[in-house]
Amino acid sequence: MIVLGVESSCDETGLALYDTERGLLAHALYSQVAMHEQYGGVVPELASRDHIRRAIPLLQQVLAESGVERHDIDAIAYTQGPGLAGALLVGASIACGLGLALDKPMLGVHHLEGHLLSPLLASDPPSFPFVALLVSGGHTQLMRVDGVGQYALLGETLDDAAGEAFDKSAKLLGLGYPGGPAISRLAEFGDPSAYQLPRPMLHSKNLDFSFSGLKTAVLTLVKKHPANICEQDKANIARGFVDALVDVLLAKCLAALKQTGLKRLVIAGGVGANLQLRAALNAAAEKRRFRVYYPELEFCTDNGAMIAFAGAMRLQIKPEAAQRNYAFNVRPRWPLNELGI
Ligand code: ATP
Ligand code: MG
Ligand code: FE
Repeated sequence: MIVLGVESSCDETGLALYDTERGLLAHALYSQVAMHEQYGGVVPELASRDHIRRAIPLLQQVLAESGVERHDIDAIAYTQGPGLAGALLVGASIACGLGLALDKPMLGVHHLEGHLLSPLLASDPPSFPFVALLVSGGHTQLMRVDGVGQYALLGETLDDAAGEAFDKSAKLLGLGYPGGPAISRLAEFGDPSAYQLPRPMLHSKNLDFSFSGLKTAVLTLVKKHPANICEQDKANIARGFVDALVDVLLAKCLAALKQTGLKRLVIAGGVGANLQLRAALNAAAEKRRFRVYYPELEFCTDNGAMIAFAGAMRLQIKPEAAQRNYAFNVRPRWPLNELGI
């Protein structure tokens, strides 16, 4: 079965073809980051309009790369939510139009399920059950995953998401948008003993997180410096921020493994690309004898491959989930634990 995936929940247009026999056949991505950068964040209306421009050329690209003919596609999976309403509607309309034109069924996919299952696309995938840490631009959640659609929420952020904390702190340091990768690179040059930032909720005895205080701590440090803050001071603040955030994520992952008794930890979402986080988790995994799994670096942030894959997984379990009534609705807000199978 060949599934076409369409991702358009935020500022990346992603198209991909996944074959349940042969694996990922092709994927193509267009990131709108350069367009939104001048505004310091995503402008929803600009995002929607750009998805319209990019989607069909990207579809042609994945068809050409894979050698698949349009009529060989068996189903079309699109991101139904959560995300920006207008951006989601573009992807859903394109999926619907293609479905009608090609006479193929369509299926709405939960964006976070896409992130969550993306490590299964790697060459040495984890088996169920596992603990998953979902750390993206809009979410920070720990989940127990027993199978596709079987997600139990163990804990989540009470305010900012980890990726949001990265982006907001980077902005305070004048590092542009999205600042996660930039603040992480800068931190490499920072002195770890220069600034000790707070570790919010480290000892909270539950699996919840809070990151808004960390951003405030960065703001306080930035304000203490003169307008022409030097590069070394910026690097030291970046280091203090990254060390604090990684410490909290690591501690909560260890607590989740202990609470569930599981030995497999899966990291998903954009912050999963962070090298300091990966180094800390890998070191802990070796010491404490659990295994940690990541998506390929290119599939940490938004992409079409994870949507095609999640759609294919669902259709294998429940073929009737694909619909031919060509009516669609998007769900800008959609808690993952409301999703069954
Ligand atoms: P959601 O999936 O919750 O709707 P999103 O789709 O915007 O949000 P992702 O695409 O998964 O989120 O991830 C983007 C986030 O990941 C951004 O906040 C970005 O700064 C962060 N990020 C990407 N690479 C890194 C990195 N190397 N280090 C830290 N953060 C990173
Ligand atoms: Mg993005
Ligand atoms: Fe995402």
